[in-house]
Amino acid sequence: MKEDTILKKNEECIIRIEDMGNDGEGIGKYQGYTLFVKNALVGDTVRVHVMKCKKNYGYARLVEVIEPSPYRVEPKCKIAFQCGGCTLQHLDYEEQLRRKQKKVTDCIERLGGITEGYVMEPIIGMETPYYYRNKAQFPVGIKNGKLAIGFYAGGSHTIIDTENCCIQAKENEDIIRCVRSFLEEERISIYNEETHEGLIRHILTRVGFVTGEIMVCLIINGNDLPGKEKLVNKLKDIKGMTSISLNINKEKTNVILGNKIKPLWGEPYITDYIGAVKFRISPLSFYQVNPVQTRVLYEKALEFAGLEGNETVWDLYCGIGTISLFLAAKAKKVYGVEIIPQAIEDARENARINGIENAEFFIGAAEEVLPEKFGQEKIYADVIVVDPPRKGCAESLLDTIVLMAPKKVVYVSCDPATLGRDLKYLSARGYELKRVQAVDQFGHTGHVETVCQLCSKYSS
Ligand code: SAH
Repeated sequence: MKEDTILKKNEECIIRIEDMGNDGEGIGKYQGYTLFVKNALVGDTVRVHVMKCKKNYGYARLVEVIEPSPYRVEPKCKIAFQCGGCTLQHLDYEEQLRRKQKKVTDCIERLGGITEGYVMEPIIGMETPYYYRNKAQFPVGIKNGKLAIGFYAGGSHTIIDTENCCIQAKENEDIIRCVRSFLEEERISIYNEETHEGLIRHILTRVGFVTGEIMVCLIINGNDLPGKEKLVNKLKDIKGMTSISLNINKEKTNVILGNKIKPLWGEPYITDYIGAVKFRISPLSFYQVNPVQTRVLYEKALEFAGLEGNETVWDLYCGIGTISLFLAAKAKKVYGVEIIPQAIEDARENARINGIENAEFFIGAAEEVLPEKFGQEKIYADVIVVDPPRKGCAESLLDTIVLMAPKKVVYVSCDPATLGRDLKYLSARGYELKRVQAVDQFGHTGHVETVCQLCSKYSS
């Protein structure tokens, strides 16, 4: 049955945007009925065309900005409004930061129920919030009979052809130019998602911001690339080129990478540093995408851990051991726990190449490994660091942390809502929130990272 709503599909109306959602969409009301409007900013008065109506809210398309928000700016990128990558480029960067800080405070207060007793430090943004990503995955396709390399439009698989992206490393421009001319000159077939035919699916690039080393990996729906020597010849002269490879992905899937790598030229990995710690990054490894702000975040985590050299630290959800290895120099012993076995292999290798001997890694779910170790071996922790995915920590893990009674818990979060929920749980069980620091790792998107320090009420 159709709901009776105040607005109907295809109607137009004028609204003022009062708030913004997690993906940067503007939120306004028409006679009390909420509308979500992509590309509209808080403070804008806009004319919109209604696309879809639900009982309590609807979606509308921006037709015209009647009165612009004082925070509206001209996006640096020509395709900012079409591309699904940046959702906030048209919002003044200082205002982006203010909104992110507010989101974190709101979640701590409303979902965490914590309104006092802690210091909210000013959010740390980037001095130049452009060209910050060290990893890009460009989809390749045919659009209107022509080769298209770029990014997907928001919420679709339509490729917006582009020569540059102002949040990716600048080196990508030369790389994409070379690959594009190779594909055209050699008439290499391009993958078609619908028919599952054609060879070239994606181009993956990674750049070590400290070392300048570059990796290019072509993801193909086949076993080999005809004319691959010609591609290598074009790419290898780009300054910093270190690793060229193919990744085989013959599955009918949206997952970009397959499991198999075929090296074409150079090393199988590139190297980069976060602080003094060196990392080997292969096409399949997980690695933080904004190395400048990652360092800022980890330094805060280190400061909040307050290590003096004698501590036992657990780093839960440790990935390839980045935080563990960063903390190891200041601790007696660091234990890392991570669910993906390949990441733990990388973590052990990273410890080895840095000569770090006081870090040990375990494969498994943090909520299983920690209680097991605690129950059987009576393990101990002075500090526990957690850096969970968006869904936050399992309650059973928080229970074990409380039983282990570390002096400090350092919570690194990529989702303020689940952070708020978990802080509430811990603060009801003897852990006081002391310091909160938001860090902008993903400028021009709605995401924000936060690091928090919690101290046990019962230890001096
Ligand atoms: N601390 C790392 C990675 C954080 S991302 C860094 O800074 O680089 C979150 C990590 O948690 C991912 O590597 C993911 O694989 C892992 N993970 C997800 N669920 C988990 C669980 N239940 N137990 C342990 N690790 C988990």
